[in-house]
Amino acid sequence: MMPKTMDQEIEALRERALAAIAAAQDVKALEDARVKFLGKKGELTLLLRSMGELPPEERPVVGKMVNALRDELNEALEARRSELEEAAVAARLAAEAIDVTLPGKRLAKGGLHPLSQVLREIQEVFVGLGFEVVEGPEIETDYYNFEALNIPPHHPARDMQDTFYITEELLLRTQTSPVQIRVMESRKPPVRIIAPGKVYRVDAADATHSPMFHQVEGLLIDKNVTMGDLKGTLAEFAHALFGKDRGVRFRPSYFPFTEPSAEMDIECGICRGSGCRFCGGEGWLEILGAGMVHPNVLRAVHYDPEEVGGFAFGMGIERVALLKYGIDDIRLLFESDIRFLRQF
Ligand SMILES: [Zn+2]
Repeated sequence: MMPKTMDQEIEALRERALAAIAAAQDVKALEDARVKFLGKKGELTLLLRSMGELPPEERPVVGKMVNALRDELNEALEARRSELEEAAVAARLAAEAIDVTLPGKRLAKGGLHPLSQVLREIQEVFVGLGFEVVEGPEIETDYYNFEALNIPPHHPARDMQDTFYITEELLLRTQTSPVQIRVMESRKPPVRIIAPGKVYRVDAADATHSPMFHQVEGLLIDKNVTMGDLKGTLAEFAHALFGKDRGVRFRPSYFPFTEPSAEMDIECGICRGSGCRFCGGEGWLEILGAGMVHPNVLRAVHYDPEEVGGFAFGMGIERVALLKYGIDDIRLLFESDIRFLRQF
């Protein structure tokens, strides 16, 4: 018979080991328990070594018990490991759980800037009338910005537009009119274009001025074009943009590159002609400048003024936006205040 003490010793070790395994709260603690009992210097390993001291006939019996205990502890370790891993996964899932009943985050929807909206509307009207949209450079030569437009050096009209010069010859264009010249130089009549874009003038920013603003320039060149064509086209445009019930009128004006020249007014949308603060008591709002293309401009691009003629017009897109939306400060269009922009 095996001595009682060995039997008891194995049973006691079994209880301690199983208790340690059950008490392990994470994988690390479980590994510590495994090393403590089954490791190279573990309690069970030491017990196995001490078998040498037993009488030979008892060794197989004790050996069998120790092996059975090792198997049992390995199984218990494996079972506990699974439990801990499952618990860890469950804990992670619980922590990462998504509450699908929570309201979603509302993303602010972007929109076109009011200037872009107005420009697109203007383009749509003129494209509908058969005009083509073309663009030109913002850095221009003195020739295209002034001279070819019948504004030679020392011409008083140069003072009307304070210019940002880059060099003596290069400047930031003060108007989109140079695009007219570039187009006419490269094409034979008929020409029917509008040219939108940025223009620059030395101006301090205030409620009605900005050193950078946008213009749309229009040009129509063909045979037998009259002032009546100009008035009809621009009235059609004004009615398309502001409504058919708004009156328009033309006043004589002066531009170096057109003769005769005119300015077009539109009936004030607030007071309908009776005069208010928005229209300065006039009842009318100036919207654009226009005129029949000056023969000197036609000659500069080698068109024959006896053969062809036409009209040109130009307007500030900011001004059109101010009139259309009843805004009284141009700076609002450039300040990027989202509370203002959201209203469009
Ligand atoms: Zn008014």
